[in-house]
Amino acid sequence: MRSELYIDGKWRPSSDGRTFDVVNPASEEVIHRIAAATAEDVDAAVKAARRAFDKDGWPKLPGRERARYLRAIADGIRSRQAEIARLEVIDNGKPLPEADWDIADAAGCFDFYAGLAEQLDNNPEEPIALADARFTSKAVKEPIGVAGAIIPWNYPLLMAAWKVAPALAAGCTVVLKPAEVTSLTALELAAIADEAGLPPGVLNIVTGAGSVAGQAIIDHKGVDKLAFTGSGPVGAKIMAAAARDIKRVSLELGGKSPFVVFDDADIDEAVEWIMFGIFWNQGQVCSATSRVLVQEGIYERLLARLVEETKKIKIGDGLEEGVLLGPLVSKRQYEQVLAAIEAAKDAGATVACGGKRPGGFDKGYYLEPTVLTNAPLDSDAWREEIFGPVLCIRPFATEEEAIELANDSRFGLAAAVMSKDDLRAERVAAAFRAGIVWINCSQPTFTEAPWGGYKESGIGRELGRWGLENYLETKQISKYVSEDPWGWYIK
Ligand code: NAD
Repeated sequence: MRSELYIDGKWRPSSDGRTFDVVNPASEEVIHRIAAATAEDVDAAVKAARRAFDKDGWPKLPGRERARYLRAIADGIRSRQAEIARLEVIDNGKPLPEADWDIADAAGCFDFYAGLAEQLDNNPEEPIALADARFTSKAVKEPIGVAGAIIPWNYPLLMAAWKVAPALAAGCTVVLKPAEVTSLTALELAAIADEAGLPPGVLNIVTGAGSVAGQAIIDHKGVDKLAFTGSGPVGAKIMAAAARDIKRVSLELGGKSPFVVFDDADIDEAVEWIMFGIFWNQGQVCSATSRVLVQEGIYERLLARLVEETKKIKIGDGLEEGVLLGPLVSKRQYEQVLAAIEAAKDAGATVACGGKRPGGFDKGYYLEPTVLTNAPLDSDAWREEIFGPVLCIRPFATEEEAIELANDSRFGLAAAVMSKDDLRAERVAAAFRAGIVWINCSQPTFTEAPWGGYKESGIGRELGRWGLENYLETKQISKYVSEDPWGWYIK
């Protein structure tokens, strides 16, 4: 396990020698200590990234050259997939098969953006037809510059890949800060990039507190673009910092996503996807479909099946065979989710199952998967993100009512609909005010497709070609080609 900062192609302790603890959420034991970056360390990282961008030629490399590095990073991740997946489990708590999936996806993300980096060579410029024949014009894409990337703890390596891969593909250089509770695999990414021969300064990884290292990144004048995934309140701070310096900014924030199930749906299929939509990754998923709306005709039967299956989920240490629900990521998150359940009960919600620490666990941040009914429409349980394995479910009568309830949220990240009537499913999908819509499923995520939210769920899109655009500027180059003099001052 690595413990130092990766700045300008070198490993180093923090400038004041401080460290912070890494806690395994399954055992509550301190398993490691990692350097806590200071503002001085962040300054060194930004300066290295600046030099790599302004002087050392990373943005000037042909896309196919940058693609070679990205593919080497993808191969490096894959060659150590099993080991990195285990690190993710002891750091984050998620079950090993989920971590394994994440690590494979992270490698795939680097491969995908290698392909897009190559395509940048084929489409370097776009001719623009002008009404004025005295000029020609073209648009070219150029990297924005130094990207400051700040990520959360729910998909540690994957969130790093979603930002680092498109940024490097575009020709940007990067300073990345992982979440303080899950920094282990980001440091492995630095090691893999180093082994891949990535030039010094192109990727810098600084671990540490949001209020210190994160704040130093967003305040640094040498950073051109801020790319953030995390909570709304921190997103607002980042947007304010970006506004002050007119930095480019993209935000991937929270959600309270609806899942509408019509009464022609197969009940078992619906239950499977409802569970995947809220219990996967312990519900610590920004796009989790945490508000389920079920049509009256099947509501009681579906609820009974859901409770029956939810009670069967095997809870335990993510490294244990067959476990499908690990501990929550940290003590803080665990206490917040427990408090949200208590508040839901106080507001009048009924616990259909779960809601407490499972029997037989005296250590670890474990929580039974929880289904709440009767959560009032104006309660926090129905309206606010809980970010844990906690589902609110309620019946609806008509399609119109379902759409109205689904869209009645300040968030707009994701939404799902299930129906055998394809026309109806498409109609509801079109009516959702959300950036990601699933029909007859919930949560599958594709590197090729745009990812991001409407409303307070964020600004901009990651993944696919949209993810690359996040790190590109558009430049217009227009040329005067007429034989005639311009003739404004000099006749
Ligand atoms: P958080 O906002 O507390 O932290 C996210 C990151 O921001 C961390 O690296 C943290 O250190 C850093 N940070 C904190 N204060 C900062 C500051 N003042 N300046 C700069 N950086 C600072 O969120 P979290 O607890 O890590 O993650 C949970 C939240 O993230 C949830 O609300 C969830 O919905 C959201 N999330 C969204 C997506 C998405 O794709 N939209 C994905 C994952 C998580």
